[in-house]
Amino acid sequence: RSANSLSEARKVRHSRPGKGQAVRCRPLSALQQNVSAAAAAAPAMEASTVDYKHSLLASREDYDKMYKRSIEDPAAFWGDIAKGYHWEQQWEDDHHTHNFDVTAGRISTEFFKGGTTNIAYNCLDRHVKEGRGDVDCLLWEANDPGTERRMTYSEVLAEVCRLANWLKAQGIKKGDAVAIYMPMLCELPISMLACARIGAIHSVIFAGFSPESIAARILDCKAKVVLAASAVKRGKKAIDLKSMVDKAVGFASRDGFEVEKCLVCHNTSAGGGKEATPMKDGRDVWWDAEIPSHSSECAVEWMHSEDPLFLLYTSGSTGKPKGVLHSTGGYMVMAGTTSRYVFDLQPGDVYWCTADCGWITGHTYLTYGPMLCGATNVVFEGTPTYPTPARSWQVVDKFKVKQYYTAPTLIRSLLSSGNDHVKAHDRSSLKILGTVGEPINPEAWKWYSEVVGDGRCPIVDTWWQTETGAHMITPLPGVFPAKPGSATLPFFGVAPSMVNEHGKAIEGPGEGYLCIKQAWPSTIRTIYGDHDRYETTYFAGFKGLYFSGDGCRRDEDGYYWITGRVDDVINVSGHRIGTAEVESALTLHPKCTEAAVVGYEHPIKGQGIYAYVSLIEGEELEDALKKELTLTVRSNIGAFAAPDILHWAPGLPKTRSGKIMRRVLRKIASKEESQLGDTSTLADPGVVNQLLSNRP
Ligand code: ATP
Ligand code: MG
Repeated sequence: RSANSLSEARKVRHSRPGKGQAVRCRPLSALQQNVSAAAAAAPAMEASTVDYKHSLLASREDYDKMYKRSIEDPAAFWGDIAKGYHWEQQWEDDHHTHNFDVTAGRISTEFFKGGTTNIAYNCLDRHVKEGRGDVDCLLWEANDPGTERRMTYSEVLAEVCRLANWLKAQGIKKGDAVAIYMPMLCELPISMLACARIGAIHSVIFAGFSPESIAARILDCKAKVVLAASAVKRGKKAIDLKSMVDKAVGFASRDGFEVEKCLVCHNTSAGGGKEATPMKDGRDVWWDAEIPSHSSECAVEWMHSEDPLFLLYTSGSTGKPKGVLHSTGGYMVMAGTTSRYVFDLQPGDVYWCTADCGWITGHTYLTYGPMLCGATNVVFEGTPTYPTPARSWQVVDKFKVKQYYTAPTLIRSLLSSGNDHVKAHDRSSLKILGTVGEPINPEAWKWYSEVVGDGRCPIVDTWWQTETGAHMITPLPGVFPAKPGSATLPFFGVAPSMVNEHGKAIEGPGEGYLCIKQAWPSTIRTIYGDHDRYETTYFAGFKGLYFSGDGCRRDEDGYYWITGRVDDVINVSGHRIGTAEVESALTLHPKCTEAAVVGYEHPIKGQGIYAYVSLIEGEELEDALKKELTLTVRSNIGAFAAPDILHWAPGLPKTRSGKIMRRVLRKIASKEESQLGDTSTLADPGVVNQLLSNRP
């Protein structure tokens, strides 16, 4: 296509997206009112300050000054920060450009143009060269208590080099894709770093995805090599992983693509000897038979700043997962900088992120960010509630974890098990507590702060996405007060714009669609192999803006409150109600551990409120409890937000990353269960049938 016809096509798309390219925001006429009913019923705006001294920022004024410069002169701001990393070749003075306007040509972002670097070098070699080689890099904790493994930065570097040399021996070179299907073993971050070292693009696939999902991801990027593990035990359940890879490779072959090599790490912690894992001659080889014979030195591939680093799929909670592509330099600088400021991470700090490397959180805040800071990372193979809900705090005490980062779904689940399992453990090493993945209800926030953090740990509620690559809106501990349930203020370089349905910016307090005005270093560069889908998904909705798909509220202090996906806003008789708010209200009831709210067609109100509720052990949803739950919502938000239907949900359909798949709940609520869509990323597909058999 010529440049001209391309920009024409863009204009058409901009005004009227074609079939299958629907812009994800539903026009909501009530958005014209700046402050909606839900916003008016917002939780109390209490601010919470704990005594914490940030090592880099003395005050809110420091933040304000840096923030202002980061927005007004991003090239200079990020240039200064990037000097803290090793670049083989310096970037040009004029290193940053971006275009977020679909009518002005191709959507693009560029940072550190002309510069070359390598993220694996910055994560490992740099620390070893600067004398930190003996610092622990990985502290691995097996699923079953009692087994652990420690690896220093020097040891990780050596293993990364051996694997990198093996990859090169298979013919993998810069720009080739490598698929990784492994549980949380040290070998997983090692595999990612080995790819990065030689410029191969890694695509990590959460270990547990079905053979169909694996095959689709292998095919999407034509990965000739798969790095896998034999099996994993999660809680009491042993899962055979290699057989899933075998099936996936078979599916790929049926579709005309041959995987040439599969390197298998024998996971002894899953039990069983090697004989339990069938290996195909010529294709499958064991890690421990191959890797040790390779050299522990491997020259670094110097990458241009905009060379691709990895490919990763979103969690699929709103539709078919998107293959998000991140590039090298900008991602590196932003991953390192957010880790340094948001977790106040310093070399040797023991830090635990509970996310799996199969998700963006495990990429940016388990592998890359903390290692760029020289921190010591806990890598946990199991589930945080096995064998008991106290497991997390046992691990915290054992390794003296300073920063702990997890998801609201785990916090709610631990909360429902009571306080004793927390209080029985010391936890005095904890300094900062983080959360990510979903809006956190103030109730869970307070429990996290008061019970887990003993009231002395700042909470960082970090809003960001696979697409943003790094934290976007987040508290900075000790720098400004937090408010339970608010992600607070934008990080350096992040310029949020809250707009109405016409894309008009709303100034001051109000509610709207959360967009970003200008590129930040770790901006998603494209959807792998589909730049058109990239442009329509994120940039065609509102001219000149990146649209996150999320709604937000901004209060009089400029703090942001994420209200969830805009698809999750319900319009009841003209009142706009964020599902997150109703869910928060329901979980205020002591018997309700978790709630998921969706809209359904209502003959009178337009949309009605359909609430799925999970209850504490032993409770059932009887009429008396239904009344109490309804009353809780009425008194906390208002009568207009009272659920029309309450549906008891012993389990909720969640993605593998712990997010509630509301689109599935919407289909069940509207009795369209024949059209559930792509559910391949559900952690437990069985929940769907349970809900169907359980209709109120
Ligand atoms: P898909 O885009 O395929 O539906 P997904 O959006 O669930 O998948 P992710 O990129 O992992 O996949 O999740 C990002 C989303 O998670 C955000 O858009 C937001 O809705 C939610 N989220 C993340 N952190 C927070 C937070 N601190 N507060 C509120 N919501 C959050
Ligand atoms: Mg998303």
